[in-house]
Amino acid sequence: MEAKKKVIVIGGGIAGLSAGIYALKAGFDADIYEKNPVPGGECMGWNRNGYHIDNCIHWLTGTDPKTKLWEVWKTVGAIDENTEYADEEKFYTSILDGKRATLWHDLERTKRELIEISPEDEAEIVKFIQHTEYAKSCVIPSDKPMDMMGVRDYIEMGKDMADMPKVMKEYGKISCGELAERFKSPVLKKLMTDYLPPEYTAYSFLVSYATMASGNGNIPLKGSLAMTLRIVSRFREMGGVLHNGAAVKRILIEGKRAAGIELENGQTVKADMVISAVDTDFLFGKLIDRKYMPSDLAKAYENRRAYPITSGLQIACAIDADFSETGTVVFDCEPITMGNRTFNRMSVKSYAYDKSFAPEGKTVLQANVVQSDEDYLFWESLSADEYKAAKEELSAGLIRRIVKEFPELDGRIELLDCWTPLTYNRYCNAYHGSYMGFVTTVGNKQMKFKGIVKGVDDLYIAGQWVMSPGGLPIAVISGKFAVQRILKKQKRNIEI
Ligand SMILES: Cc1cc2nc3c(=O)[nH]c(=O)nc-3n(C[C@H](O)[C@H](O)[C@H](O)COP(=O)(O)OP(=O)(O)OC[C@H]3O[C@@H](n4cnc5c(N)ncnc54)[C@H](O)[C@@H]3O)c2cc1C
Repeated sequence: MEAKKKVIVIGGGIAGLSAGIYALKAGFDADIYEKNPVPGGECMGWNRNGYHIDNCIHWLTGTDPKTKLWEVWKTVGAIDENTEYADEEKFYTSILDGKRATLWHDLERTKRELIEISPEDEAEIVKFIQHTEYAKSCVIPSDKPMDMMGVRDYIEMGKDMADMPKVMKEYGKISCGELAERFKSPVLKKLMTDYLPPEYTAYSFLVSYATMASGNGNIPLKGSLAMTLRIVSRFREMGGVLHNGAAVKRILIEGKRAAGIELENGQTVKADMVISAVDTDFLFGKLIDRKYMPSDLAKAYENRRAYPITSGLQIACAIDADFSETGTVVFDCEPITMGNRTFNRMSVKSYAYDKSFAPEGKTVLQANVVQSDEDYLFWESLSADEYKAAKEELSAGLIRRIVKEFPELDGRIELLDCWTPLTYNRYCNAYHGSYMGFVTTVGNKQMKFKGIVKGVDDLYIAGQWVMSPGGLPIAVISGKFAVQRILKKQKRNIEI
């Protein structure tokens, strides 16, 4: 009997774990090499002082069992019919000058309340809600890569997404900032730019809201790390081997093909196929020569204005109380300076929805100040002492501002941890600390490329950078797609 072919996967984030599982499903041997002691990459959580800090899932696209993406999540063991979800009712609330505006999952309620806040914006509100309803039809193609789809697949997709052209017509060519300008009410203007940065395309914002409003973007209870570990269990049960604490130094190229890997400890491992599921800036430059980078991707890295990234300066706090606020709340704060930029708005998120994150009667609260490429350069420029001091000063400053907004927390709030864009770079080799792929700004092509490398056979790419805007759904389908590309090359059936 012919020996099974061996796939090596570099990176044990969601994309790498998915690639490993689908490789096993396709009948290959699969080994995953992950540099950290715990797999999961950016889909992560950690414990501090008896509390759990969940650092990923705000919404998981694909929780509606009617979608094909749900089947992918089920295949990798992330969720199933019995998964319990957070009982959340809203996307977030914006506060300005004492006025509160909320995007509820119930679109009719949102419409009613926003019109009450600003009757003069009624026409714009009705249009916004109607198009969010249309945006519920947006699905992420999860069966196979789009370049492998046939005419029939496109017809099916067109039928599924019948209402999306209306959304693209109305909101496809404007940014969230421009969407905000359509409203007269100051708090509604804020509502449109408080979650996604103003340069994001407005349609992405509507699709995000629609995903939650339709029940296709729930939050699995027990959080991100627990979901990662369920996927790890599935991989191991299927016979996969996960090497934790095993950083890959380079991909071995023999002739014109990827023949295996060399680890940081000097060990070499041979393989028939290699799937890279690490950050693409790290792949092209550290693991193989930058010259192999696909040109569209290279252009995106060079054009930082057209393809910005998103990261965050974040703190997690223990609250010695049942905090009455639920979900995410965004509010004005006294100006706070980080590097060259000053911020006067911040958000906090209460994790009260998951009782497993805190001792009884207590709550975890996190604050996030959105960070950009420019902010990353600031953090990177600091010495180790300056970095530590800046984190301490900013954490204390953010806590003071939280207490100012929620005086009931005075004396009941304590810092658990603070982390920055540098943390994501150090921990995951994430480009500029990004926790999504490239942001698509208005007028620019959505970043996507085939997960193959011209000039290097048997090397495939998975991960959130394969297609904007990244995130967990792109990570999980990209792992599956990488294996389908292998099957296609071997002229085998790609249905797995
Ligand atoms: C705060 C935050 C909130 C988020 N919220 C959401 C959300 O609500 N919904 C959503 O869909 N997405 C969200 N995301 C994004 C989501 O977490 C990521 O898009 C996704 O986890 C990326 O998965 P990945 O496998 O492509 O990359 P990564 O998670 O970066 O995985 C890459 C892996 O490769 C490993 N690695 C790197 N270099 C090497 C090496 N040399 N050798 C071996 N291993 C290596 C890394 O350690 C890492 O484990 C959020 C992320 C963050 C940080």
